[in-house]
Amino acid sequence: MATIPECILYIQPLNTDWYKNKVSAIDILRLDVVHKHVSGNKWYKLKENVQHCLDNNIDTLITFGGGYSNHLAATAVAAEYFGLKCIGIVRGDYSGDRMTDTLRHCIGYGMELTFVSYEEYKLKDDREWLNTLTDKYPNSFIVPEGGANELGRLGIAAIAEYISDTYTHIAVSVGTGTTLVGLVNALPEYQKVYGYVPMKGGSYLEEELNVLVNGEKCFQLFDDWHFGGFGKHTDDLVQFMNEFYSLNDIPLDIVYTAKMMYGIQKQLDANIFDKDSKLLCIHTGGLQGNSTIANKLIY
Ligand SMILES: *Cc1c(COP(=O)(O)O)cnc(C)c1O
Repeated sequence: MATIPECILYIQPLNTDWYKNKVSAIDILRLDVVHKHVSGNKWYKLKENVQHCLDNNIDTLITFGGGYSNHLAATAVAAEYFGLKCIGIVRGDYSGDRMTDTLRHCIGYGMELTFVSYEEYKLKDDREWLNTLTDKYPNSFIVPEGGANELGRLGIAAIAEYISDTYTHIAVSVGTGTTLVGLVNALPEYQKVYGYVPMKGGSYLEEELNVLVNGEKCFQLFDDWHFGGFGKHTDDLVQFMNEFYSLNDIPLDIVYTAKMMYGIQKQLDANIFDKDSKLLCIHTGGLQGNSTIANKLIY
């Protein structure tokens, strides 16, 4: 199986002051320490895709993302590591002065970027348009935006192996929902999976994701804590991140995990969990995205 040199993942208990005695425990599974650049859930979503390429002598990975995409950043590094050529199709024109740190990083790892208009990017799942890509890059394999395919969900099962059956609730951030579905499918039914969506009105994902869930298992989505929408934030959220870091010594990312932990704090305040609940929150990584607010963070 394709593997990058990994740190040993660990589970870190939160400072009990953070949740008082509202629940019996809250722990964090630190996927953010998997690798400096192939961070968190991104590696797990990629590993079976990379393996598929290696097994089938495919030499080029093609994938998609925006100018700040954690998925593009991780794919560039993983592809380079395994000697695969890598094409990133980017939503919007970031050439010249508009280049972001994330995309500069991708180029540094040998990813070849193609900027397409928002209009054209919408075709990213259109078979005909994808065929023009595979014609251009023969012997290539297309990984959808966010690693959202069956191989991506399959790779996530490896995360479930770290989750003991004593946890009553598993909390995870949701972008495409690939990580959430992968976990729901791999965990026993009695463990509740709660998904925190950082997009406005993100609960629309529920129907789409339900189709991908095996059997009778269920999950719940929460989209109240979007702070204005995907990629948006307020000073209040940044302050929360700094306080969280001071108390727990855990850096959160501004796009996903900060909004999740903020939401969980609000849910604790509202007493939505039974007192004997034991929560495991998945730190899905994404810390590279904090470069845009680096001057406001204490870490
Ligand atoms: C990409 C990302 C997610 C979303 O993962 P999905 O599998 O697309 O739902 C969550 N958290 C972080 C930090 C991410 O970078």
